[in-house]
Amino acid sequence: MSILKVAHMGHPILREVAVPVPPERFASAEFQRFCDDLLESMYELDGAGLAAPQVHVSERVVVFELEEEDGPMFLVNPVITPLTEETAGGYEGCLSVPGMRGRVERVTAVRVECRDRHGKVLSFEAHGWAARVVQHECDHLDGVLYIDRADPKSLAFLPEFRRYGPLVPSGDGEE
Ligand code: ZN
Repeated sequence: MSILKVAHMGHPILREVAVPVPPERFASAEFQRFCDDLLESMYELDGAGLAAPQVHVSERVVVFELEEEDGPMFLVNPVITPLTEETAGGYEGCLSVPGMRGRVERVTAVRVECRDRHGKVLSFEAHGWAARVVQHECDHLDGVLYIDRADPKSLAFLPEFRRYGPLVPSGDGEE
């Protein structure tokens, strides 16, 4: 396995719409190796999630891990549908926008339809923090960064964020 290099804000690949993974690709050793590398990179960089475009691969693949005991979850070709109009604000960070935090308003529940890394069809609901992580990671597949959606007055560098706390109350107590 290898640790992949992360693209930072300003790299054009982060603004591309990523292409779907074709069905025949799931069984390839190369794709499975890529999934292993994506996961290993997420662990190495201590991220909650990582999307393929963040490691310079413009394909519709994300991985995230909410709790260590749940293990990692791969979403391939995900389709996200809001389950509510209710939104909540929460502070997010991103490995592609290092050293910053910002408050993003997102819907609190979504349905996710996708495939796993082996091509198996998945359909599940995500609520709260899980819904936020899913939306953040899947935004990467459409060339959207959290900073595009963040309240500009909430943006902070990490040392200042830690020192002074959120400039705009988060609303849902996340991060
Ligand atoms: Zn991100």
